[in-house]
Amino acid sequence: MLNLTDMWRAAGRAEHRRPADWLALEETMRFRAHADTHLTALDEPVLPNAGDAGIWAIDTDGLVAAIRGHGGGTWAHWQLALSYACYLSPAFHLWCNTVVRAAMKRPDVPAVQDSDPLPLYLAEHFRHLHRRLDTVDRHAADLMFLALSGQELVLGGRREFSELSRTILIRVAMAEPYDGRCPCCGNARILSTEGRPLAGTEFDHFFHRRLNRPEHGWLVCTVCHGELTHGGYLVRFARTPEFRAFQARVLKQRRLARERSGASPR
Ligand SMILES: [Zn+2]
Repeated sequence: MLNLTDMWRAAGRAEHRRPADWLALEETMRFRAHADTHLTALDEPVLPNAGDAGIWAIDTDGLVAAIRGHGGGTWAHWQLALSYACYLSPAFHLWCNTVVRAAMKRPDVPAVQDSDPLPLYLAEHFRHLHRRLDTVDRHAADLMFLALSGQELVLGGRREFSELSRTILIRVAMAEPYDGRCPCCGNARILSTEGRPLAGTEFDHFFHRRLNRPEHGWLVCTVCHGELTHGGYLVRFARTPEFRAFQARVLKQRRLARERSGASPR
């Protein structure tokens, strides 16, 4: 809000052009009534309950406020204040127009950036999207739990990885981008420079201990194996992207091996 009383003083204290005189004009009341129904949230009319009760007297439309007594004054929403400036004096009117025009030409006025609706619109939609993705994540984790429980009932006991499966998993872990490091944490070394599993390296059954084809497992460090084994299905679910990435390389490896051996792909 802008101080109408200060504006009146600055414009030379014209006797019959006080803020109260202007507010009483029919023209002013028409403008105020229109502003009251057409101002948007971006124009931020003052809420009637704003300010310190008893000191500020704010009109119900939130467009005009007054502090009574010595040193008091009348304040108005900038829309009204600009209109008052025009009424006060031709010189003040001219000055206001010049200031507003200069602000319009400046490209980096923060108020204009703040009122750009596009970032707000996008932020709102991203919030919706994140909520939906969280839901999808939870459903996928629940499905994994059900699948694991079902496998447990149906499959039973453990099956070790065959020698051929182990060779394939080692070959993938030895190649780029792993270079002998754990594909789960990307950190710990799991293979010697000759490609032999270091102590503690484990062939992890990703889906179930009975599912032992190369596409059902990977080679991980002791720490990761411990977390995957004892952390519950949510830990396993969280590592799914890393496992999928590893498996994409296993499948590629197998396809290449088939092509080399001349076998026709099924
Ligand atoms: Zn690891």
